Amino acid sequence: MKKINNNELALKNVNEQVTVYGFLSKKRDLGGVLFFDLRDRSGIVQIVVRDTLDNYDALTTAKVESVLKVTGTVVERENKNAKLATGDIEINADQIEILNNAQDVPFEISDNTTALEDTRLKYRYLDLRRPFLKDKLIARHQIVTSIRQYLNEQQFIEVETPILCLSTPEGARDYLVPSRVNQGSFYALPQSPQIFKQLLMIGGMERYYQIARCFRDEDLRADRQPEFTQVDLEMSYVEEEDVQTIVEGLLKKVFHDVKHMDIQTPFLRMPYEEAMERFGSDKPDMRFEMELKNVTALFAQTTFTVFKTTLEQNGYINAMVVKGLAKEISRKKIDQYTEYVKPYGAKGLAFVKMEDGILQAGIAKFLTDTEKEQLIETLSLTENDVVFFVSDQKKTAQTALGALRLKVAKEFSLIDQNSYKFLWVTDFPVFEWSEEEQRYLACHHPFTAPKDEDVDKLLTDKPHCYAKAYDVVLNGYELGGGSIRIHNQDIQAKMFEALGFSEEEAAKKFGFFLEAFKYGTPPHGGLAIGLERLVMLLTNTTNIRDVIAFPKTASASDLMSNAPNTVDEKQLAELGITLVNKE
Ligand code: ASP
Repeated sequence: MKKINNNELALKNVNEQVTVYGFLSKKRDLGGVLFFDLRDRSGIVQIVVRDTLDNYDALTTAKVESVLKVTGTVVERENKNAKLATGDIEINADQIEILNNAQDVPFEISDNTTALEDTRLKYRYLDLRRPFLKDKLIARHQIVTSIRQYLNEQQFIEVETPILCLSTPEGARDYLVPSRVNQGSFYALPQSPQIFKQLLMIGGMERYYQIARCFRDEDLRADRQPEFTQVDLEMSYVEEEDVQTIVEGLLKKVFHDVKHMDIQTPFLRMPYEEAMERFGSDKPDMRFEMELKNVTALFAQTTFTVFKTTLEQNGYINAMVVKGLAKEISRKKIDQYTEYVKPYGAKGLAFVKMEDGILQAGIAKFLTDTEKEQLIETLSLTENDVVFFVSDQKKTAQTALGALRLKVAKEFSLIDQNSYKFLWVTDFPVFEWSEEEQRYLACHHPFTAPKDEDVDKLLTDKPHCYAKAYDVVLNGYELGGGSIRIHNQDIQAKMFEALGFSEEEAAKKFGFFLEAFKYGTPPHGGLAIGLERLVMLLTNTTNIRDVIAFPKTASASDLMSNAPNTVDEKQLAELGITLVNKE
């Protein structure tokens, strides 16, 4: 058995006889003596190989990445290498066994590799040998360890829930698994353990957690994977604040253990409507200011056609001040910004600049003196400020300008990259309108409890119903989200009705779940944290594939194993499946 970690060897071990194992990472031939870098998971140690060894010739021709067992004596180096943890010493080899000869590897195993990601994904096991990825996986392990320790201390129990189950209601498309025994029936892979964790509360478990694998068949964006992991938890006899406090404690411990950083708790709490109004986002990045301002009222009498039309349609005029950058923000840049906000639904981007003590350029000529004065005062404008406006329906005006806020901040480096700003966004709407489906959907999921004062409005005033739902946000990313659940059957029935499920539909989809509520249901609530997102933030990467051992590509395939793939006719026949397109 391998007993020594390479990177632990140091001057303290000089004169010791040791046996080390690892990959031959690098090789230099100085004629009569070879220098090997031997790499194991912990790091690299230098091996001196002299031509007195029996198998010197074989060692001379050994390819990099071959696996070696080296026995020798630790000696102090003449030329120390300060860049290497073990740079003070080297091992004079007495015996080297080639445990496995490597072929030429398809790319250089180094953090400076120029290999394309597709090649690295095809040979992921080689890619994992690079310190960059190896360190990410180790960090992920440390984070999960820290989470488990914390939750165990808080009397949570870890419970596994099924992977083959009935479709869950997170709102994405399910991955389906055909049943052989019950032909024509399908399991769904869980989008989250939501229903099961609530049933665990009904089952009396009180505090549950799971490092849970979730599956969602969605079109993949850069930061999404078809299967991902949640730190999923649920608690009985709690209110919103209680869940939030537990999660704050958890994040505090993780940051302490992994980053050696003490984060301040409690986090700021901000209702959803305020976050949208001030930052144009339900996951505001609080590392910089540049807040948005609703200036609709200021333009009540406007003659500027664009704003006027918006007001006639009960719209919203949103403004954002970029301080002191009027000179840097050129016409060309503003054109780019105008294009940038279009995908967010904004039809245009208006602006004015504060130059020579007055508002000029852009739409300045359409504004009255009073409007200009009010703008200067309300927005506290000073020389060289730029004001951007988006006028549209409220949500579009908010999200479009919110997106621009982030873009400008990134472009002009206004974000303090070393700070971590947490907050809770609370009081989310219960419903959101789906243009596509032309109906209201659950903003979170159908089991989220409405605020007590909004229960009566569920059927009559959907846009003004708010929920006991909360997201924990860090630096502009949603780390996790959860809610207090409905634990009363009548309210649950009303919620299904509000979401347009008929009684029969609700009974078919969630009948077993509704039944469970009849036999004593403790009030409960919980939350799930996206583990990959947390690891990404803690290890400073924006590529989700960096924190997953065997990730999939944007087209949901595994380039290494070629999954998904066709299956035998026999397998299909057993499942009673005939393919329509056999190509
Ligand atoms: N199951 C929810 C989700 O995946 C989280 C929760 O409500 O606890 O978003």
